[in-house]
Amino acid sequence: MAANLRRWTLPLALALLLAPLVGCASSGVNKGQFNLISIEDEWQLGNQLAVDLARQLRLVSDPVAQEYVDSVGRRVVAQTEMANLPWHFHIVDDAEINAFAIPGGHVYINRGLIEKSPNLAAFTGALAHEISHVVARHSTEQLSKAYGIEAIGGAVLGQNPAVYEQILASILAQGAMARFSRSAESEADRLGTAYMFKAGYDPQGMVQLFQTLLAERQRRPGSVERFFASHPLTEDRLREVQKEIAGFPSASNLIASDPRFDQLQDRLSG
Ligand SMILES: [Zn+2]
Repeated sequence: MAANLRRWTLPLALALLLAPLVGCASSGVNKGQFNLISIEDEWQLGNQLAVDLARQLRLVSDPVAQEYVDSVGRRVVAQTEMANLPWHFHIVDDAEINAFAIPGGHVYINRGLIEKSPNLAAFTGALAHEISHVVARHSTEQLSKAYGIEAIGGAVLGQNPAVYEQILASILAQGAMARFSRSAESEADRLGTAYMFKAGYDPQGMVQLFQTLLAERQRRPGSVERFFASHPLTEDRLREVQKEIAGFPSASNLIASDPRFDQLQDRLSG
């Protein structure tokens, strides 16, 4: 009897110990969120989606513009816990103001957002916000909830083309991976503002970005429709970011503008 009991209690104790480890893949910086997709699979899925998106979106192929956007993106990414993974920044040749990130470190920024950014810091705010959605793994959390392990595992491995096609089609239709929750937006704002500050950019850029977007919505609602559908933006978010910045230590020489950013705007609109 005792031997029998021991035979069962050890595996049970082990199972209980290991349960949190095998229960779900680790999530992003928010921790504890439900995520079934490993980082390796996420990067594989993102690379596959990026290949297909490159066929369907008009991307800007200007090496000078690309080099500059990459340099800003890399500088922000260097402050994150995913600094050692490969990231890609894509400029979409579209006048609509929009930006989105897909799994696996692929960030898409529309030409319209670059043109309408009042300065480099505001543009960096958009980039840092999208980078933060990736770092917090918001997209794969949503996919995990929407599809479950078998479907999403199959989509990553190419065994479930129907689910894969659905994901691709919805990105193209929405101009975004998904509509994020209010708390996911707040998290991306908070992380993004901190990353840009640590990278040496003026975090007020995030505030200026929001002000620009809100003003643009008043002026030409259609031009920011898809951005607001996927990233609901309210005055509350603006106030939260301002509060966040007030808590930062004082710093000098923060970068707000850069003549090379102005040249980028000229190149893209020319
Ligand atoms: Zn967002």
